[in-house]
Amino acid sequence: MLVLKNVSKIYTRKQSQEDVVALNNVSLDLPDKGFVAILGASGSGKTTLLNIIGGLDKATSGNMIVDGLSTSEFTVKDWDSYRNQKIGFVLQNCYLLPHLNVRDNVAVKLQISHSKAKDIDALVDEALRRVDLLDKKLDKPKALSGGQKQRVAIARALVGNPTVILADEPTGALDSKTGTSIMELLKEASKDHLVVMVTHNNEYASKYADRVIELKDGQIVNDTKPVKNEPVTDPKKLERVSIPGITTLKWGLKNLIVKKFSTISIVVAAALGLTGVSLILSVSTGVQHVFDKVQAESFSKYPVSFSSYTSTDPQWDASQYPPYSDEEIVIADYSSYNKQYHYDYMSEQFLNYMRSMPSNYYLGNFERSTTYFHLFTK
Ligand code: ADP
Ligand code: MG
Repeated sequence: MLVLKNVSKIYTRKQSQEDVVALNNVSLDLPDKGFVAILGASGSGKTTLLNIIGGLDKATSGNMIVDGLSTSEFTVKDWDSYRNQKIGFVLQNCYLLPHLNVRDNVAVKLQISHSKAKDIDALVDEALRRVDLLDKKLDKPKALSGGQKQRVAIARALVGNPTVILADEPTGALDSKTGTSIMELLKEASKDHLVVMVTHNNEYASKYADRVIELKDGQIVNDTKPVKNEPVTDPKKLERVSIPGITTLKWGLKNLIVKKFSTISIVVAAALGLTGVSLILSVSTGVQHVFDKVQAESFSKYPVSFSSYTSTDPQWDASQYPPYSDEEIVIADYSSYNKQYHYDYMSEQFLNYMRSMPSNYYLGNFERSTTYFHLFTK
């Protein structure tokens, strides 16, 4: 059960120092089950709302209460646990790890929460059966169609039985027939989960959702079925999660074998709330790096990862982030291990500044086309 109380989110654009009110005093009670659609024009705050519900972004003010627990007292570990156990994400572009097969992509979340190998197999099979993709278990994402990839992403979201499935424009990149099949799956999932879906598609919202919430300028302007949850007297505690060392090593080695660094790996790993993201990458870039990294990590509590956003993404709407064009580099900041996108212009001057840092402060490269680095901050 989820309650938002007077939640506001204000972003400050770094260059202009201009404040953007993405959410303006939003209060909302969400039930344990059912299908909630969030509609609204581009820039109305839909993604921000979803990210706050999913623990990917933090409110500037206000509070979110989960099963009676106030998230204002959550530690970084609590947020990891929350994202790992309570939330399943489905994003527009799937973000499957390209070097892992379907089975392993779905298993990722369970490996973080230390499930036993036998349980993992059974749960992954069950999730893949739900999306009718059991026969593709050993295929790599590149062998799948767009709709199949999105179904894998749904299986990944459902596995481990989280309470809430959050879907940000899950059909945005699909044709309408495939889109409909995704909606049917989410509808089915909403019988046992709360599904919150952001969409531009009014038809889908009215056909599939039991409740439609409309946002405008960061405020709820319409709610077809407002509910008021009863206060919870017996809140459930979260179990702490962290990524087991052996899993880190395994993923890292697989990445090494494929020998392809992919920004997507970080995005996904971060979206899943992993705390060992940079370690995975270290393994794949060589054993020496692991030692350097472990050393660096022992004094760096919060590595911050940046990557250039690939401008080939057809969904990237550069016009939303003026004055940046998609030609220019955008930084994604995955600090606090979450998928917080902080879009920013990475100027040559900034890159030069970064390049002049002592090399043990970071891991990565600063080539303009493939910039990525992890900053170690104390
Ligand atoms: P929607 O998903 O409805 O299109 P968003 O939640 O992405 O809207 O964004 C709401 C507003 O907040 C927009 O004006 C957007 O430009 C701004 N915004 C979102 N994320 C950031 C950010 N990281 N930095 C600055 N402004 C942002
Ligand atoms: Mg959005």
